[in-house]
Amino acid sequence: MPASTEPLEPAPGHVQLLSIDEPPHHLQNQKISSGKGTFCLHGRVQNSGHRSYLLLVFAAIAIPAGLFFGFTAPWIWNNISQALPVVFSYLLLLCIVNLVRAVTSDPGILPRNIHTETSIGPGSLNIASSSVTVNCRQYDEDNLIYLPINYCAVCKIWRPARASHCRDCDSCIDIMDHHCVWLNNCVGARNYRYFFWFIWSLSLLGYFMSTLGFVHVLTLNRQKSSSMIAAIRFAPVSFALAIYSALGSIYPTSLGLYHIFLMSRGENTREFVCNE
Ligand SMILES: [Zn+2]
Ligand SMILES: [Zn+2]
Repeated sequence: MPASTEPLEPAPGHVQLLSIDEPPHHLQNQKISSGKGTFCLHGRVQNSGHRSYLLLVFAAIAIPAGLFFGFTAPWIWNNISQALPVVFSYLLLLCIVNLVRAVTSDPGILPRNIHTETSIGPGSLNIASSSVTVNCRQYDEDNLIYLPINYCAVCKIWRPARASHCRDCDSCIDIMDHHCVWLNNCVGARNYRYFFWFIWSLSLLGYFMSTLGFVHVLTLNRQKSSSMIAAIRFAPVSFALAIYSALGSIYPTSLGLYHIFLMSRGENTREFVCNE
């Protein structure tokens, strides 16, 4: 029996999957994204937002690290152990690499203009509003296991479940966690791991720097049998770094613990905030 060439009619109540214009596969995302992202090196590096916050983050890490190598590390190297400054250097490298990857990676920008008005058919959808949610609940498990379908009228796409439109990036981001103003980038499907390891390597770096700073001051205090004030006067930079890094580690540690909590729930920041 020859196969019928007639197009199949969708069953009543089903969401009709309309014809989709295939995106041109030879084009990279950076060439079909008209969001606010800045792309360099043929799309391998991208970022968006306010660069001033990013410079602040780099300065908050690089300046104390430079002071540590100038004042604390030589004393630790000569008097305690040569391994400790090496471990510090490794943690600093880990922190910087994860920061750069989180800042410059594509967070999961979804290609635009795939499901345009012409491809989904005139009158089939009112896309005057910025986002349309299609309620596809037919069975008990719909909307529980399967999330509603969202149409983004800005990007003109049916975006996947857990994706969301970021106003700062002006793009839909796959599994969007949040837009981080400090990184000037969204945290999403493709750079979440770098963000997570950045905040934990930053926490470890801070606690390690704090410990070595206090070790410097306390050892001087014991060796010279002087008062604590006198020991701080001998190593004021180490003491200042110890206080700065101990206080500065509180925020990334709290953030890291919060993300472990989110992972245990199988959620991301946006879903947790919206569901509460
Ligand atoms: Zn969008
Ligand atoms: Zn964003």
